[in-house]
Amino acid sequence: MLLHRFPQNVVALASMLFLQTLFVLRRLGNPTLLLLPVLVLAVEPLRAELNVVATTTDLGSIAREIAGDLAKVTSIAKGYQDPHFIDAKPSYLVRLQRADLFVLVGMDLERGWAPNLLMNSRNAKIQRGGAGYVDASEGVDKLQIPVAADRTMGDIHPYGNPHYWLDPANGRIIAANIAAGLIRVDPAHAQEYEANLRAFLARLEAALARWAEDAAALEGLAVVAYHDSWPYFEQRFGFEAVAFVEPKPGIPPSGRYIAALVEEMKSRRISIILMTSFYSSKTARLIARQSGATLVTLGQSVDGIDGADDYFSLFDTNLSLLLQAAREGQGGR
Ligand SMILES: [Zn+2]
Repeated sequence: MLLHRFPQNVVALASMLFLQTLFVLRRLGNPTLLLLPVLVLAVEPLRAELNVVATTTDLGSIAREIAGDLAKVTSIAKGYQDPHFIDAKPSYLVRLQRADLFVLVGMDLERGWAPNLLMNSRNAKIQRGGAGYVDASEGVDKLQIPVAADRTMGDIHPYGNPHYWLDPANGRIIAANIAAGLIRVDPAHAQEYEANLRAFLARLEAALARWAEDAAALEGLAVVAYHDSWPYFEQRFGFEAVAFVEPKPGIPPSGRYIAALVEEMKSRRISIILMTSFYSSKTARLIARQSGATLVTLGQSVDGIDGADDYFSLFDTNLSLLLQAAREGQGGR
């Protein structure tokens, strides 16, 4: 099974040579018989294991569910790093050179670092349009797509808001895109990938029903968010970020902007600021202190916060933190 990517006749030839050598050596009573394990080891690296490289931990987590033990899955951005801005390390290039499948968020989320890495990897298979290239956003209902020549979304959300993985219902589309990619590069295991996809979707449907029930208490809640990371999460769970600490995505606030934001929060009685660990806690704490609101630090990605170990526990953790803050603050109704 593991040799499926290696021509059967070559395997047969190798086994025949091996047996003939064994036969000759036995007749000669040759002590080099001790070297035979070396021959066996030389055949071993032909074992086919797929290398999947995802740009983020969320995509990595879903890819792991679909690939099972048929692939080694790694992700480049850590969950506690801002995926818009990652410093490309030489080790990422090595991983891309060896990758069979490359999975990215797309919508230019990784614009600052992924295109260069991809190009320099010189791995034709994983370039855009190649069998091993998966844009996980394909088929997602995208929010905040700017009209032509509209720059109001800032420089880092040019094709709409790219944080779509934060609606867990989009997990269905991400998983299907990854499964299709795995089947393209490894058709021999199509049935396994399809079965893993079905199992993932069944678990996700059950979790979505549970989350919808939990989130009923968030209906109508108004919050302030640091970065506009949450529109898909908000839409799914019925609350709304009505203002942002960043005046535009990727742009830090001025003192004047902060003062106006604090006034707005007071007059609208907004009691929650959604925060992610990689944004300036100094700015967020200042706004919290001046407005009287509570800072709630959520995970924007898997491994971005304690307890968010995979795609499912990311939502378990975020929802429970937000619900707790909403109960305590009765914020912004
Ligand atoms: Zn963003």
